[in-house]
Amino acid sequence: MFNRDYNENPFIVIWELTRACELKCLHCRAEAQYRRDPRELSFEDGKKLIDDIYEMDNPMLVFTGGDPLMRPDVFDIAEYAVKKGVRVSMTPSATPNVTKEAMEKAKEVGLSRWAFSLDGPNAAIHDHFRGTSGSFDLTMNAIKYLHELNMPIQINTVISRYNYDHLDEMAALIEELDCVLWSVFFLVPTGRGQEKDMITSVEHEKTFKWLYDLSKRVPFDIKTTAAQHYRRVVIQNKIREKQATGEGINYKDALMNGTTGQIDGLGRAPKGVNDGNGFVFISHIGDVYPSGLLPIKAGNVKETPLGEIYRESEVFQNLRNPDAYKGKCGVCEFRHVCGGSRSRAYAMTGDYMESEPYCVYIPKALRGKKKNVV
Ligand code: SF4
Repeated sequence: MFNRDYNENPFIVIWELTRACELKCLHCRAEAQYRRDPRELSFEDGKKLIDDIYEMDNPMLVFTGGDPLMRPDVFDIAEYAVKKGVRVSMTPSATPNVTKEAMEKAKEVGLSRWAFSLDGPNAAIHDHFRGTSGSFDLTMNAIKYLHELNMPIQINTVISRYNYDHLDEMAALIEELDCVLWSVFFLVPTGRGQEKDMITSVEHEKTFKWLYDLSKRVPFDIKTTAAQHYRRVVIQNKIREKQATGEGINYKDALMNGTTGQIDGLGRAPKGVNDGNGFVFISHIGDVYPSGLLPIKAGNVKETPLGEIYRESEVFQNLRNPDAYKGKCGVCEFRHVCGGSRSRAYAMTGDYMESEPYCVYIPKALRGKKKNVV
């Protein structure tokens, strides 16, 4: 698991079980619809897909949507995967579908983790962002019940203009809710997500430093999505701290092969995961993408085995080659552990190989040539 070669097998697979959802979230990647799409992968298609996923050195599997609970067979699919030995977690929407029965069933079939979205420390901010009143209270009640069931809980938060000024309160709430992981997404302007709702590059940097400091004092893990440059900030801080104590540190090899080992302290994926590089997304109809935020289709699992698409498609191969990235990411000494968000590069420039548009860092190779920095 921890030495896997991302050219061969992903670290994590995200499967959008359905696009149907009762919420109308402002940033929704999937532009979710109220009704289920008749073209969705069937239960039989899903079993075949799970077999293929398992063969890829058994990566983690996440059920997303839409709302996975809009599929009546969600727990049959989950049970099939768990019985095979796959670690499955799920990110349902906070709707009345989150019943006690649903949570008990999740526990019974052996789901590893239940993830909820919380985008504000109170109902006013969260419900506005999620486009539905009552979502915050429903989430709080469900979390209480999940604790009674001893089900590990993950919270997903999208950082945007709407909650940037409330991050301290957010962190306090995550701690109070006794979650195992805080998964922090940084907005990518795709689907319903809009550029005007994004925080600035400097605010990204400030948030990374704040997250790093937070990670040292809280009991829960922190992971970021669409913010690969958080890894750069963690590494820079670790190096500074080690240097301050007089400890020597050899990080150059680690940066080149992408395995940050003990120096990054990220505690999650041991190597920098990026779109198409350790990460793969399967849509509700079986289309395969490097990420749910990078809408370039590389194949369909009904026609081609997932492993073949992941290993051999041109877009996936390009994405796994940070030396070919354009602009400053392509020459940055952190490109193998960071590489910037390929989804954001695509959303903002139309080219997934372009530089991350929201990174303030100037790579060493470009120092003194500031005018040429992209
Ligand atoms: S320039 Fe690109 S590779 Fe370097 S730290 Fe920024 S986003 Fe990462």
